Amino acid sequence: MFEFKILISNSDQDIKLAELIKDTLIKIGELKPYLSLEYPSKGKNLAEKTRNAIENCDFMITLLTRNSIKDQFVNQGIGYAIKIRELKNQFKIIHLLEDNLNFNGLINYKTEDVIKIDKNNLELVLHNLIWSIRKNIPNGLNSNILKLKIKCCNCNDLMDNPNEYFGFVPSQADIKKNYSLNKHSLSYYCPYCGAISEINILTFENLSLKHNRKMVLEENVNK
Ligand SMILES: [Zn+2]
Repeated sequence: MFEFKILISNSDQDIKLAELIKDTLIKIGELKPYLSLEYPSKGKNLAEKTRNAIENCDFMITLLTRNSIKDQFVNQGIGYAIKIRELKNQFKIIHLLEDNLNFNGLINYKTEDVIKIDKNNLELVLHNLIWSIRKNIPNGLNSNILKLKIKCCNCNDLMDNPNEYFGFVPSQADIKKNYSLNKHSLSYYCPYCGAISEINILTFENLSLKHNRKMVLEENVNK
């Protein structure tokens, strides 16, 4: 199985968004997203570790926000990433940009993808990010290339964690078609128990798992 290492670069204040991005991308089996601190790279200090991570990763996602515009660490990371990109063709930089910010000096619109952060529609932001990664993977927009890691909404393993299974990510064309027909979720059958999990078509969040957990929580509260 091929895999793509993804480094997420953010200021400390944007950690919630960075974690949301990581939790979303990790649902695709072939994607290995890491926050800067977690990236498995060597170095005497964080700056050196980050430089090694940038040299090693396939994708770098930068969160360009009011917080990070002043963050020396994020800025240095982008500067270094731009140098690396000149040496490494496959390496891609994807910027998530907060509205009305001017990062023009840092962004090369020809070679880098830029996605606007719409706080009122984070689902679409996450979807655009997945799409941007997929189109930079050979055949990544087709079906039967990438696999979703699905946690069953109904049955557990011996350790009492939800059973996990894989289902193919649909082609981007099918996602677009279904969404335009108002079908906003995908159905996957658990091979262990047959339960259907409904997966958000834009973000691949398991809606059934979320729903069932909420019900359990409510039951406990009502007891
Ligand atoms: Zn199951």
